[in-house]
Amino acid sequence: MMRSRNTLVFAALLFVAVTAYAQHSSTRSGQVFSGERAFEYAREFAGIGPRSVASQGHAKAEAYLRAHFQHDQLEEDTFMADTPIGPVNLHNFIVRFPGKKPGVIVLASHYETNYPLRHINFVGANDGAATTGLLMAIGDHLRPQVAGGKQLDGYSVWLVFFDGEEAFQSWSQSDSTYGSRHLAAKWDRDGTLKKIKAFILTDMIGDKDLDIQRETNSTSWLVDLVRRSAHKFGYDKHFFQTEEAVEDDHLPFVKRGVPSIDIIDLDYGPNNSYHHTVQDTMDKVSAKSLTIDGDVILETIMLVNQR
Ligand SMILES: [Zn+2]
Repeated sequence: MMRSRNTLVFAALLFVAVTAYAQHSSTRSGQVFSGERAFEYAREFAGIGPRSVASQGHAKAEAYLRAHFQHDQLEEDTFMADTPIGPVNLHNFIVRFPGKKPGVIVLASHYETNYPLRHINFVGANDGAATTGLLMAIGDHLRPQVAGGKQLDGYSVWLVFFDGEEAFQSWSQSDSTYGSRHLAAKWDRDGTLKKIKAFILTDMIGDKDLDIQRETNSTSWLVDLVRRSAHKFGYDKHFFQTEEAVEDDHLPFVKRGVPSIDIIDLDYGPNNSYHHTVQDTMDKVSAKSLTIDGDVILETIMLVNQR
C-alpha cells in the first residue's frame, strides 16, 4: 500500500485516557478470540520466507492456505495479470462462512510479499503475514458456528486473501493491487458486489506499537462502527488518533460504491524504518495487537449485523 501524496497527516493532540482495559471479546457463542492463535499462524506463515509472486515461497504460501481451509468453502480465484514483468498468474483465496441473513461481510488481507524485495530476506511479518494469521484465527472462531450445515446468525462472512497487492516495479494505479482490482471487477460483473454490506480490509496491524490511522477514503459509518467497537474494549488510544488517505486493496471496492474501510497502521518502526525492509520480522509483531484487532473486528461484524 501507499500513502497518497497530497494528503495531510496530522497528529491528534488529545491523549485519550484509557480506563477499562483489554477484556476479551466473547460472542453469543461464548468463545474468546485468540490473538495468540493469530500470532502463531502469522509466525508459521512468515516462516515460509519471502512469498513474492511466482516464487517457490509463494507456492508454499498457497499450499499453506489450501491445507488450512481444506474443509471450508474455499474458492481459488486464479487469473492472469498484466504486470511490468509480463503476464503472471495470480491466486486470490476466498473462504465463505454462510449466514442466515442475506448479505455478506468481507474481511480481507493480502498474503504475498513485495516483488522488488524478492532477492532479500523480506518475510513481511507485519506486511501480509500478521493479517493473514488474523483472518485465519477469525475463521477458527467462525467455523464451529457453521459446523454440520449450520449458519452464522447474521450476514455471511467471507475471508479474502488477496494476491498481488504490492507493486512489481514501483507503486502506481496500474502497478499495484492486482488481486483486489480483479476481484472487484469480477464481482461487479456477476452481481456479487450488491450483496456486500461491508468490506473490511486489514493491513499491517500486527505492529506491537499499534496506532491505526483513520483512512480517509474509507466509508464514514463503517469507521464509526470500528471506533465504537474499539471504545467498548477500551482500545481507543490505538485507533484513529491521526488520519490520512492510503491507496490499498479497498479502493477498487470504494470506487464501486461498496461500504469499505482500510484498517491500517502505516507507522511501522522509527521513521517507518521496518516498512518494506528486512526488519519486518515477527519480533515487531505482537499477539496483543492481534487480539485488539480480532476483538474489534468481531464486534464490528456484530454492529454491521444490527445496523
Ligand atoms: Zn507492503
